[in-house]
Amino acid sequence: MQSTTNSGSSSSGAAGQETLVKQLAEAKEMRSKMIQDLKTSQDSVEAIRDAIAEIDKKQRKLLECPICYTQYDKQSRVPLILTCGHTCCARCIAHQVRRQAINSNSPVFKLLCFYCRQETNSTTKNFDIELFSINKIMLDALPTDY
Ligand SMILES: [Zn+2]
Ligand SMILES: [Zn+2]
Repeated sequence: MQSTTNSGSSSSGAAGQETLVKQLAEAKEMRSKMIQDLKTSQDSVEAIRDAIAEIDKKQRKLLECPICYTQYDKQSRVPLILTCGHTCCARCIAHQVRRQAINSNSPVFKLLCFYCRQETNSTTKNFDIELFSINKIMLDALPTDY
């Protein structure tokens, strides 16, 4: 009776222990898998963050005047598109108008693009923004606080 109980309890104890060992092994395996998953998801979060930062950087660069490397705005650095298709800010265009006006005998002359050296918009010696087109796509792409 005693031995049966003993053997029974011992056998059930052994079985219980076996289950526990098995559960522990499973839990251990699950834990390492979860850590692995967590690491993977952290990696992908970081990769996504890097990708977003890269996109932001490219966008900032696109919204920068290629002459003065300053972001366009809706005040003095309005993005102006020349007839050749190149865009730069109103300040740099005004500067170029003043520079090129020195070499022109006529009060109205064609502004040369600083990239492709093509003749572009007709301009008066005094910079007049009305003679140029605003690059609305760039203007709309500016962050809202600009
Ligand atoms: Zn500029
Ligand atoms: Zn050009």
